[in-house]
Amino acid sequence: MTRKTTAAPRKTSTAAAARVPAPKRPTPADLDTAHFAELLDERIGQAREKIAAVVADIREVTLAAKDTPADDEHDPEGSTVSVERNNEMALLAAGEESLIELLDARVRLDEGAYGVCEMCGNAIPSERLEIRPEARFCVTCAAAARRR
Ligand SMILES: [Zn+2]
Repeated sequence: MTRKTTAAPRKTSTAAAARVPAPKRPTPADLDTAHFAELLDERIGQAREKIAAVVADIREVTLAAKDTPADDEHDPEGSTVSVERNNEMALLAAGEESLIELLDARVRLDEGAYGVCEMCGNAIPSERLEIRPEARFCVTCAAAARRR
């Protein structure tokens, strides 16, 4: 007995092709890249310092918790310590996230693909980059993304 294998017709989809990221747009020629390199390096340094400070705090809180005998049920300090540590961990995560954004922007600057909105392709005004040198989107696209 022969069993016919009827292969389902392969659907050719164009969706995959559409998902290919657009080539990186070049840094606007009039952008003061040397200035933004300096600004980014400064922010990267600050972000690293902030992370180091938070890590030091976490170590302190953790050591303090170790010094006091663990008695979660009767020790009201126990919950305070864990709340404090959770806050520090959230700060650490936020700090790391912004450091990554800054480092990413620094790479884009080196690659010559900086200061251009990744959504609409327009140049991001340097006044915005001055405040948020890690910005990936122009104000309009950033606002649109937040609304989603
Ligand atoms: Zn845009």
